[in-house]
Amino acid sequence: QCSVRCPTAALIVKSEVNKAWEAVLDPEKFVVAQIAPAVRVAVGEAFGLEPGEISTGKIAAALKKIGFDRVFDTAFSADLTTVEEAEEFFKRLTKGGPFPHFTSCCPSWVVYAERNYPFYLNNLSSARSPQQMFGAVIKNFVAKVENKTLDEIVSVSIMPCTAKKFEARRPEFQTEGKPDVDIVMTAQEIIKMIKSANIDFKELDPVPFDVPLGLGTGAGVIFGVTGGVSEAVLRYAYERLTGKELKNVEFNGVRGFDSLREVEVDFDGRTVKVAVVHGLANLQRLVKEIREGKRYYDLVEVMNCPGGCIGGGGMPLAHPNRELTLRKRAQGLYNADRMSTIRKAQDNPSLKYLYEKWLEKPNSEEAEKVLHTSYHSRRRISQEFIRIQEAKESQKI
Ligand code: SF4
Repeated sequence: QCSVRCPTAALIVKSEVNKAWEAVLDPEKFVVAQIAPAVRVAVGEAFGLEPGEISTGKIAAALKKIGFDRVFDTAFSADLTTVEEAEEFFKRLTKGGPFPHFTSCCPSWVVYAERNYPFYLNNLSSARSPQQMFGAVIKNFVAKVENKTLDEIVSVSIMPCTAKKFEARRPEFQTEGKPDVDIVMTAQEIIKMIKSANIDFKELDPVPFDVPLGLGTGAGVIFGVTGGVSEAVLRYAYERLTGKELKNVEFNGVRGFDSLREVEVDFDGRTVKVAVVHGLANLQRLVKEIREGKRYYDLVEVMNCPGGCIGGGGMPLAHPNRELTLRKRAQGLYNADRMSTIRKAQDNPSLKYLYEKWLEKPNSEEAEKVLHTSYHSRRRISQEFIRIQEAKESQKI
Protein backbone atom coordinates (compact mmCIF):
# COMPACT_ATOMS: atom_id res chain seq x y z
CA GLN A 1 0.00 0.00 0.00
CA CYS A 2 2.61 2.54 1.13
CA SER A 3 5.39 1.39 -1.18
CA VAL A 4 3.68 2.83 -4.24
CA ARG A 5 3.74 6.41 -3.13
CA CYS A 6 6.01 6.75 -0.10
CA PRO A 7 9.41 8.37 -0.80
CA THR A 8 10.92 6.37 2.05
CA ALA A 9 9.57 3.08 0.73
CA ALA A 10 12.89 2.10 -0.84
CA LEU A 11 13.88 1.03 2.67
CA ILE A 12 13.45 -2.57 3.65
CA VAL A 13 10.82 -2.19 6.32
CA LYS A 14 11.31 -4.53 9.23
CA SER A 15 8.70 -5.43 11.76
CA GLU A 16 9.83 -4.38 15.22
CA VAL A 17 7.39 -6.55 17.14
CA ASN A 18 10.14 -8.90 18.35
CA LYS A 19 12.31 -5.99 19.45
CA ALA A 20 9.39 -4.57 21.43
CA TRP A 21 8.73 -7.94 23.09
CA GLU A 22 12.41 -8.23 24.04
CA ALA A 23 12.29 -4.78 25.64
CA VAL A 24 9.11 -5.31 27.68
CA LEU A 25 10.25 -8.75 28.86
CA ASP A 26 13.65 -7.44 29.99
CA PRO A 27 13.39 -6.53 33.70
CA GLU A 28 16.39 -4.18 33.34
CA LYS A 29 14.55 -2.00 30.80
CA PHE A 30 12.09 0.80 31.49
CA VAL A 31 9.87 0.89 28.42
CA VAL A 32 7.96 4.05 27.55
CA ALA A 33 5.37 4.15 24.76
CA GLN A 34 3.74 7.01 22.88
CA ILE A 35 0.60 6.54 20.77
CA ALA A 36 0.05 8.70 17.67
CA PRO A 37 -3.29 10.52 17.22
CA ALA A 38 -4.42 8.61 14.09
CA VAL A 39 -3.79 5.19 15.64
CA ARG A 40 -6.58 5.59 18.22
CA VAL A 41 -9.35 5.61 15.60
CA ALA A 42 -8.13 2.55 13.67
CA VAL A 43 -6.62 -0.12 15.96
CA GLY A 44 -10.12 -1.06 17.18
CA GLU A 45 -11.06 -2.04 13.60
CA ALA A 46 -8.95 -5.17 13.98
CA PHE A 47 -11.02 -6.16 17.03
CA GLY A 48 -14.51 -5.56 15.68
CA LEU A 49 -14.92 -1.86 16.51
CA GLU A 50 -16.18 0.60 13.91
CA PRO A 51 -13.64 2.80 12.06
CA GLY A 52 -13.46 6.12 13.87
CA GLU A 53 -14.40 4.64 17.24
CA ILE A 54 -11.89 6.06 19.70
CA SER A 55 -10.03 3.33 21.55
CA THR A 56 -7.21 5.34 23.13
CA GLY A 57 -7.91 4.08 26.65
CA LYS A 58 -8.14 0.48 25.48
CA ILE A 59 -4.83 0.73 23.60
CA ALA A 60 -3.21 2.19 26.74
CA ALA A 61 -4.74 -0.64 28.81
CA ALA A 62 -3.46 -3.26 26.35
CA LEU A 63 0.06 -1.80 26.44
CA LYS A 64 0.04 -1.82 30.24
CA LYS A 65 -1.05 -5.48 30.22
CA ILE A 66 1.75 -6.30 27.78
CA GLY A 67 4.29 -4.75 30.16
CA PHE A 68 4.98 -1.18 29.04
CA ASP A 69 6.03 0.87 32.08
CA ARG A 70 4.65 4.20 30.93
CA VAL A 71 2.17 5.03 28.18
CA PHE A 72 1.90 8.57 26.83
CA ASP A 73 -0.16 10.32 24.19
CA THR A 74 1.61 11.70 21.11
CA ALA A 75 -1.20 14.29 21.06
CA PHE A 76 0.73 15.88 23.94
CA SER A 77 3.85 16.31 21.79
CA ALA A 78 1.67 17.34 18.84
CA ASP A 79 0.72 20.26 21.11
CA LEU A 80 4.42 20.83 21.70
CA THR A 81 5.07 20.79 17.94
CA THR A 82 2.17 23.22 17.46
CA VAL A 83 3.49 25.71 19.99
CA GLU A 84 7.10 25.51 18.75
CA GLU A 85 6.08 25.66 15.08
CA ALA A 86 3.44 28.37 15.52
CA GLU A 87 5.93 30.51 17.43
CA GLU A 88 8.31 30.09 14.48
CA PHE A 89 5.48 30.99 12.08
CA PHE A 90 4.62 34.02 14.22
CA LYS A 91 8.25 35.20 13.92
CA ARG A 92 8.09 34.80 10.15
CA LEU A 93 4.87 36.82 10.04
CA THR A 94 6.48 39.63 12.02
CA LYS A 95 9.86 39.48 10.26
CA GLY A 96 8.70 38.89 6.70
CA GLY A 97 9.34 35.26 5.85
CA PRO A 98 10.51 33.05 4.33
CA PHE A 99 7.14 32.09 2.88
CA PRO A 100 5.46 29.81 2.34
CA HIS A 101 6.10 28.28 5.72
CA PHE A 102 5.84 24.52 5.07
CA THR A 103 4.85 22.11 7.84
CA SER A 104 7.39 19.34 8.38
CA CYS A 105 5.83 16.67 10.59
CA CYS A 106 5.36 14.18 7.72
CA PRO A 107 8.74 12.47 7.19
CA SER A 108 7.81 11.32 3.68
CA TRP A 109 7.23 14.92 2.64
CA VAL A 110 10.49 16.00 4.33
CA VAL A 111 12.52 13.40 2.42
CA TYR A 112 10.72 14.33 -0.78
CA ALA A 113 11.63 17.99 -0.22
CA GLU A 114 15.24 17.07 0.54
CA ARG A 115 15.42 15.15 -2.74
CA ASN A 116 13.46 17.45 -5.00
CA TYR A 117 13.09 20.94 -3.53
CA PRO A 118 16.42 21.87 -1.91
CA PHE A 119 15.55 25.53 -2.56
CA TYR A 120 12.68 25.19 -0.08
CA LEU A 121 14.54 23.58 2.83
CA ASN A 122 14.73 26.89 4.73
CA ASN A 123 10.97 27.24 4.32
CA LEU A 124 10.28 23.96 6.13
CA SER A 125 9.43 24.40 9.79
CA SER A 126 12.42 23.49 11.94
CA ALA A 127 10.08 22.12 14.62
CA ARG A 128 10.52 18.37 14.95
CA SER A 129 7.58 16.07 14.39
CA PRO A 130 5.48 15.01 17.39
CA GLN A 131 7.15 11.57 17.36
CA GLN A 132 10.62 13.08 17.59
CA MET A 133 9.64 15.75 20.11
CA PHE A 134 8.25 13.09 22.43
CA GLY A 135 11.37 10.98 21.86
CA ALA A 136 13.54 13.90 22.97
CA VAL A 137 11.27 14.55 25.98
CA ILE A 138 11.46 10.86 27.00
CA LYS A 139 15.26 10.71 26.77
CA ASN A 140 15.94 14.11 28.34
CA PHE A 141 13.08 14.71 30.79
CA VAL A 142 11.17 11.50 31.56
CA ALA A 143 14.48 9.66 32.13
CA LYS A 144 15.39 12.17 34.83
CA VAL A 145 11.92 12.19 36.43
CA GLU A 146 11.98 8.38 36.56
CA ASN A 147 15.63 8.30 37.65
CA LYS A 148 16.67 6.06 34.73
CA THR A 149 19.85 6.04 32.66
CA LEU A 150 19.76 6.25 28.87
CA ASP A 151 20.81 2.57 28.79
CA GLU A 152 17.80 1.57 30.84
CA ILE A 153 15.11 3.58 29.09
CA VAL A 154 13.57 2.32 25.83
CA SER A 155 11.39 4.70 23.87
CA VAL A 156 8.75 3.07 21.66
CA SER A 157 6.37 4.88 19.36
CA ILE A 158 3.19 3.50 17.81
CA MET A 159 2.68 5.24 14.51
CA PRO A 160 0.49 5.17 11.40
CA CYS A 161 3.30 4.58 8.90
CA THR A 162 6.65 3.00 8.15
CA ALA A 163 8.15 6.39 7.18
CA LYS A 164 8.29 7.07 10.92
CA LYS A 165 10.82 4.22 11.23
CA PHE A 166 13.06 6.04 8.78
CA GLU A 167 12.56 9.33 10.62
CA ALA A 168 13.58 7.79 13.96
CA ARG A 169 16.84 6.60 12.37
CA ARG A 170 17.93 10.07 11.26
CA PRO A 171 21.19 10.91 13.04
CA GLU A 172 19.85 14.36 13.98
CA PHE A 173 17.41 12.77 16.41
CA GLN A 174 19.70 11.44 19.11
CA THR A 175 20.57 12.17 22.72
CA GLU A 176 24.16 11.40 23.73
CA GLY A 177 24.60 9.22 20.64
CA LYS A 178 21.46 7.13 21.24
CA PRO A 179 18.22 7.43 19.24
CA ASP A 180 15.44 9.41 20.90
CA VAL A 181 13.01 6.81 19.58
CA ASP A 182 14.40 3.27 19.79
CA ILE A 183 11.53 1.27 18.36
CA VAL A 184 8.82 2.38 15.94
CA MET A 185 5.82 0.11 15.58
CA THR A 186 3.04 0.67 13.09
CA ALA A 187 -0.63 0.32 14.05
CA GLN A 188 -0.59 -3.06 12.30
CA GLU A 189 2.38 -4.19 14.38
CA ILE A 190 0.77 -3.20 17.68
CA ILE A 191 -2.38 -5.09 16.63
CA LYS A 192 -0.18 -8.14 16.05
CA MET A 193 1.41 -7.70 19.47
CA ILE A 194 -1.97 -7.34 21.22
CA LYS A 195 -3.26 -10.45 19.42
CA SER A 196 -0.18 -12.49 20.27
CA ALA A 197 -0.63 -11.53 23.95
CA ASN A 198 -4.16 -13.03 23.77
CA ILE A 199 -5.72 -9.83 25.06
CA ASP A 200 -9.48 -9.49 24.66
CA PHE A 201 -9.24 -5.92 23.35
CA LYS A 202 -12.97 -5.27 23.10
CA GLU A 203 -13.54 -6.12 26.74
CA LEU A 204 -10.67 -4.02 28.13
CA ASP A 205 -11.51 -1.25 30.57
CA PRO A 206 -9.92 1.96 29.30
CA VAL A 207 -7.06 3.41 31.37
CA PRO A 208 -5.75 7.00 31.28
CA PHE A 209 -2.31 8.02 30.06
CA ASP A 210 0.46 8.41 32.58
CA VAL A 211 1.25 11.68 34.31
CA PRO A 212 2.69 14.30 34.23
CA LEU A 213 2.76 14.40 30.42
CA GLY A 214 -0.47 12.57 29.77
CA LEU A 215 -2.68 15.30 28.44
CA GLY A 216 -3.10 16.12 24.76
CA THR A 217 -5.62 18.75 23.67
CA GLY A 218 -8.12 18.56 20.83
CA ALA A 219 -5.62 20.49 18.69
CA GLY A 220 -3.07 17.69 19.18
CA VAL A 221 -5.56 14.95 18.33
CA ILE A 222 -6.50 16.43 14.93
CA PHE A 223 -2.87 16.17 13.79
CA GLY A 224 -3.95 12.73 12.56
CA VAL A 225 -6.07 14.09 9.72
CA THR A 226 -5.15 16.27 6.75
CA GLY A 227 -5.66 19.94 7.69
CA GLY A 228 -5.24 19.25 11.39
CA VAL A 229 -1.73 20.66 11.73
CA SER A 230 -2.62 23.97 10.10
CA GLU A 231 -5.80 24.22 12.18
CA ALA A 232 -3.80 23.65 15.38
CA VAL A 233 -1.20 26.24 14.31
CA LEU A 234 -3.91 28.79 13.43
CA ARG A 235 -5.49 28.34 16.87
CA TYR A 236 -2.16 29.38 18.42
CA ALA A 237 -0.93 31.96 15.89
CA TYR A 238 -4.19 33.93 15.90
CA GLU A 239 -4.02 34.55 19.64
CA ARG A 240 -0.26 35.20 19.52
CA LEU A 241 -0.49 37.77 16.75
CA THR A 242 -3.68 39.57 17.74
CA GLY A 243 -3.46 39.22 21.53
CA LYS A 244 -7.18 38.33 21.46
CA GLU A 245 -8.94 35.15 22.52
CA LEU A 246 -9.96 32.93 19.61
CA LYS A 247 -13.63 32.15 20.28
CA ASN A 248 -14.43 29.78 17.40
CA VAL A 249 -11.54 27.33 17.16
CA GLU A 250 -12.85 25.39 14.15
CA PHE A 251 -11.37 26.38 10.78
CA ASN A 252 -13.71 24.48 8.48
CA GLY A 253 -11.95 25.67 5.32
CA VAL A 254 -8.91 23.47 6.01
CA ARG A 255 -11.05 20.37 6.66
CA GLY A 256 -12.21 17.78 4.15
CA PHE A 257 -10.67 15.56 1.50
CA ASP A 258 -10.33 17.85 -1.53
CA SER A 259 -6.79 17.53 -2.89
CA LEU A 260 -6.19 21.23 -2.17
CA ARG A 261 -8.01 23.40 0.38
CA GLU A 262 -7.33 27.07 0.81
CA VAL A 263 -8.38 29.53 3.50
CA GLU A 264 -7.74 33.15 4.21
CA VAL A 265 -7.85 34.11 7.88
CA ASP A 266 -8.08 37.68 9.07
CA PHE A 267 -5.56 38.24 11.86
CA ASP A 268 -6.79 41.75 12.77
CA GLY A 269 -6.06 43.29 9.40
CA ARG A 270 -3.27 40.88 8.37
CA THR A 271 -4.69 38.25 6.02
CA VAL A 272 -2.98 34.90 6.46
CA LYS A 273 -3.28 32.61 3.44
CA VAL A 274 -3.19 28.88 4.11
CA ALA A 275 -3.13 25.89 1.76
CA VAL A 276 -3.55 22.26 2.74
CA VAL A 277 -2.46 19.53 0.36
CA HIS A 278 -2.33 15.75 0.71
CA GLY A 279 -0.68 13.42 -1.77
CA LEU A 280 2.63 14.29 -3.40
CA ALA A 281 1.22 14.47 -6.94
CA ASN A 282 -1.08 17.26 -5.74
CA LEU A 283 1.89 18.89 -4.04
CA GLN A 284 3.95 18.88 -7.24
CA ARG A 285 1.24 20.84 -9.06
CA LEU A 286 0.93 23.27 -6.17
CA VAL A 287 4.68 23.90 -5.87
CA LYS A 288 4.93 24.48 -9.62
CA GLU A 289 2.25 27.16 -9.44
CA ILE A 290 3.81 28.78 -6.37
CA ARG A 291 7.21 28.85 -8.14
CA GLU A 292 5.60 30.36 -11.24
CA GLY A 293 4.07 33.09 -9.08
CA LYS A 294 0.52 31.98 -9.85
CA ARG A 295 -0.26 31.32 -6.18
CA TYR A 296 0.88 32.77 -2.88
CA TYR A 297 0.54 31.30 0.61
CA ASP A 298 1.89 32.12 4.04
CA LEU A 299 1.45 28.57 5.31
CA VAL A 300 1.30 25.27 3.43
CA GLU A 301 0.52 21.99 5.18
CA VAL A 302 1.74 18.88 3.37
CA MET A 303 0.87 15.27 4.18
CA ASN A 304 1.95 12.41 1.97
CA CYS A 305 -0.95 10.05 2.56
CA PRO A 306 -4.53 10.48 1.33
CA GLY A 307 -6.51 11.93 4.24
CA GLY A 308 -3.30 12.46 6.23
CA CYS A 309 -2.09 9.95 8.82
CA ILE A 310 -5.52 8.26 9.04
CA GLY A 311 -4.60 6.90 5.58
CA GLY A 312 -1.04 5.89 6.52
CA GLY A 313 0.53 2.73 5.10
CA GLY A 314 0.98 1.18 8.57
CA MET A 315 -2.69 1.46 9.49
CA PRO A 316 -5.17 -1.42 9.18
CA LEU A 317 -6.26 -1.77 5.56
CA ALA A 318 -9.30 0.41 4.99
CA HIS A 319 -11.64 -2.27 3.61
CA PRO A 320 -14.13 -2.65 2.04
CA ASN A 321 -14.85 1.01 1.30
CA ARG A 322 -11.62 2.96 1.66
CA GLU A 323 -13.09 6.43 1.32
CA LEU A 324 -15.86 5.76 3.81
CA THR A 325 -13.39 4.28 6.30
CA LEU A 326 -11.11 7.32 6.04
CA ARG A 327 -14.07 9.66 6.50
CA LYS A 328 -15.16 7.76 9.62
CA ARG A 329 -11.61 7.88 11.05
CA ALA A 330 -11.44 11.63 10.36
CA GLN A 331 -14.82 12.16 12.01
CA GLY A 332 -13.61 10.18 15.03
CA LEU A 333 -10.70 12.60 15.47
CA TYR A 334 -12.91 15.68 15.01
CA ASN A 335 -15.36 14.26 17.56
CA ALA A 336 -12.48 13.72 20.00
CA ASP A 337 -11.46 17.36 19.48
CA ARG A 338 -15.01 18.57 20.02
CA MET A 339 -15.32 16.54 23.22
CA SER A 340 -12.02 17.88 24.59
CA THR A 341 -12.30 20.40 27.38
CA ILE A 342 -9.09 22.01 26.11
CA ARG A 343 -8.82 22.62 22.37
CA LYS A 344 -5.80 24.89 22.01
CA ALA A 345 -2.23 23.64 22.42
CA GLN A 346 -1.20 26.77 24.32
CA ASP A 347 -3.77 25.95 27.05
CA ASN A 348 -2.39 22.46 27.73
CA PRO A 349 -1.43 22.30 31.44
CA SER A 350 1.00 19.41 30.85
CA LEU A 351 2.79 21.60 28.30
CA LYS A 352 2.91 24.52 30.72
CA TYR A 353 4.41 22.15 33.29
CA LEU A 354 7.12 21.04 30.83
CA TYR A 355 8.08 24.63 29.97
CA GLU A 356 8.07 25.59 33.63
CA LYS A 357 10.25 22.65 34.69
CA TRP A 358 12.58 22.47 31.74
CA LEU A 359 12.18 24.37 28.47
CA GLU A 360 11.34 27.82 29.84
CA LYS A 361 9.39 29.16 26.81
CA PRO A 362 8.65 28.29 23.16
CA ASN A 363 11.74 28.64 20.90
CA SER A 364 14.02 29.11 23.95
CA GLU A 365 17.66 28.13 23.56
CA GLU A 366 17.01 24.72 25.14
CA ALA A 367 13.86 24.19 23.06
CA GLU A 368 15.78 25.04 19.86
CA LYS A 369 18.45 22.51 20.84
CA VAL A 370 16.21 19.54 21.63
CA LEU A 371 12.96 20.21 19.75
CA HIS A 372 14.13 21.67 16.44
CA THR A 373 16.21 20.39 13.55
CA SER A 374 17.55 21.32 10.14
CA TYR A 375 17.35 19.65 6.73
CA HIS A 376 19.86 18.88 4.02
CA SER A 377 19.68 18.17 0.34
CA ARG A 378 19.76 14.46 -0.45
CA ARG A 379 20.49 15.06 -4.13
CA ARG A 380 23.64 17.05 -4.69
CA ILE A 381 22.96 16.73 -8.39
CA SER A 382 19.65 18.50 -7.99
CA GLN A 383 21.37 21.52 -6.46
CA GLU A 384 23.84 21.51 -9.32
CA PHE A 385 20.98 21.12 -11.77
CA ILE A 386 19.18 24.07 -10.22
CA ARG A 387 22.35 26.19 -10.33
CA ILE A 388 22.74 25.45 -14.05
CA GLN A 389 19.05 26.12 -14.69
CA GLU A 390 19.25 29.40 -12.81
CA ALA A 391 22.38 30.39 -14.73
CA LYS A 392 20.57 29.59 -17.99
CA GLU A 393 17.56 31.61 -16.89
CA SER A 394 19.68 34.63 -15.98
CA GLN A 395 21.42 34.45 -19.39
CA LYS A 396 18.03 34.57 -21.09
CA ILE A 397 17.26 37.78 -19.22
FE1 SF4 B 1 3.29 8.95 7.77
FE2 SF4 B 1 1.49 9.34 5.86
FE3 SF4 B 1 1.25 10.61 8.21
FE4 SF4 B 1 3.16 11.29 6.49
S1 SF4 B 1 0.94 11.50 6.15
S2 SF4 B 1 3.41 10.98 8.71
S3 SF4 B 1 3.72 9.30 5.59
S4 SF4 B 1 1.12 8.43 7.86
